[in-house]
Amino acid sequence: SQHSSKDIRELFINYYRDKHQHTQVPSSKVFSPDDNSLLFVNAGMNQFKPVLLGNEAAYKRINFIKRAVNSQKCIRAGGKHNDLEDVGVDVCHHTFFEMLGSWSFGDYFKKDACKMAWSLLADVFHLSKDKLYVTYFSGCEEIGLEADLETKEIWNSIGVNEDRILPFGIKDNFWEMGDSGPCGPCTEIHYDQNPDLRYAPEEVNKPGSDVIEIWNLVFMQYNRLGKNELIPLKKCHVDAGMGLERITAVLQGKVSNYDTDLFHPIISALENLSKCRPYAGHVGEEDLDGTDAAYRIVSDHIRMLTIAISDGIHPGPRGRDLIVRQVLRRAVMAGVEKLGIENMFLHKLVPVVIESLKPAFPDLESSKELIVSIINKAEKSFYDMLAYGDKLITKTVSSMPVSQTAFPTDVAWQLLSYYGYPQDTLMLKLKGYDMSVNMQEILKFSKLKNPESIHLDRQRKAFNVKSIIQILSAENIAKTEEILNTKLNENAR
Ligand code: ATP
Ligand code: MG
Ligand code: MG
Ligand code: MG
Repeated sequence: SQHSSKDIRELFINYYRDKHQHTQVPSSKVFSPDDNSLLFVNAGMNQFKPVLLGNEAAYKRINFIKRAVNSQKCIRAGGKHNDLEDVGVDVCHHTFFEMLGSWSFGDYFKKDACKMAWSLLADVFHLSKDKLYVTYFSGCEEIGLEADLETKEIWNSIGVNEDRILPFGIKDNFWEMGDSGPCGPCTEIHYDQNPDLRYAPEEVNKPGSDVIEIWNLVFMQYNRLGKNELIPLKKCHVDAGMGLERITAVLQGKVSNYDTDLFHPIISALENLSKCRPYAGHVGEEDLDGTDAAYRIVSDHIRMLTIAISDGIHPGPRGRDLIVRQVLRRAVMAGVEKLGIENMFLHKLVPVVIESLKPAFPDLESSKELIVSIINKAEKSFYDMLAYGDKLITKTVSSMPVSQTAFPTDVAWQLLSYYGYPQDTLMLKLKGYDMSVNMQEILKFSKLKNPESIHLDRQRKAFNVKSIIQILSAENIAKTEEILNTKLNENAR
């Protein structure tokens, strides 16, 4: 018999609570109104940041507990941990996911953390150790940190084969919540989803590989104050997080998170609304026309929207509201353009999502109507914006000399960045007029204004214009507005 995702969540929590004396704590909201260093909660530890930093008042608020466990609502879209571009392209990154978390606040440290994790996987979940790899921090000279050989030794003593204990650098094995705050070396557990039993250490931490990271145990030892400035914490803590969707896929014998019971009902509902073929689960080149990616995008995004809105975020023009608006629009585009679903469809998926997430977050039920009405309003205003954008494009084109084939960069910038007009649609429209827009110019434009926002697309190894525009418009909307206004004034003159 197979574990449902509900069972898995419960098994995890019960294990830490009943077997290892952790106190079960509720998930926080998916954003923190008082911490503007983050757009969204990106990990279970966010709500404990002050505790980890040694703030007594914060520690008192959680009754000085030494151990905690929960399932935390996380969103990784925008900000330091931004997975938006991977969603739908791969089968293991979501905008919204649940992080199964366990913590030691100045209590047990590396050895017990590793032992507890390993025993859950081996004795409770019965995973074969021939499918698992563990990693440890290999050190970093630049910030004067040594390799974490202690952790390597611990894994050895637990019985992990030497050749399955792999060192990795700062990118994979030093965890940080943001540009500042608590951080430390980590050790991770990876699972090989390849159907063949094999030894493939080179596949660990390789994007697109079928060895996937399932669990990260962070040893919180430092507070980052700035670039290259780490100060040791007074007490050492453990902060461990495992993605529920990924461990569910593993335990349900699926390679893709979208083939688990967490996504299946949503994909089914989408298949019923869609005018195209059912979901086939193809990825990459096998997903020729992007149909399966569209199924994944819509089913991912509607979960994020349901959760974000139920926690009180409204789609809008700034900050986290803007990210929510963008996610909503991406979902609408994927549904309407790729799956041939009729307009104003998104809200129909909300009850399905609530049914699936209710066991973990029972409060969702009472906000159903509100979520539906907010999503409807935002979907409608998207169509209004598209209509306005179309008009602006026609007007611009008709006022240009026939010989000019380059669409003005500033108008394109305005459409993409300010109104959130979809890039693909703009390209398609311009193609119809035999025109093009120089994305390089737009890129230069944004680079000039905000070099920090440049985000390297890992899979395509290229600067990704879409994400630059997203980040720039999300975090610097005020600046963007200012730039646009100057540009527009210059044009008017
Ligand atoms: P990856 O390398 O796969 O991007 P990560 O190293 O960024 O993951 P961590 O910050 O270590 O992830 O988070 C802890 C765990 O949360 C991961 O081991 C994984 O199981 C899960 N996780 C992280 N990002 C996502 C996501 N976008 N969607 C679903 N699960 C995720
Ligand atoms: Mg990541
Ligand atoms: Mg990783
Ligand atoms: Mg990790």
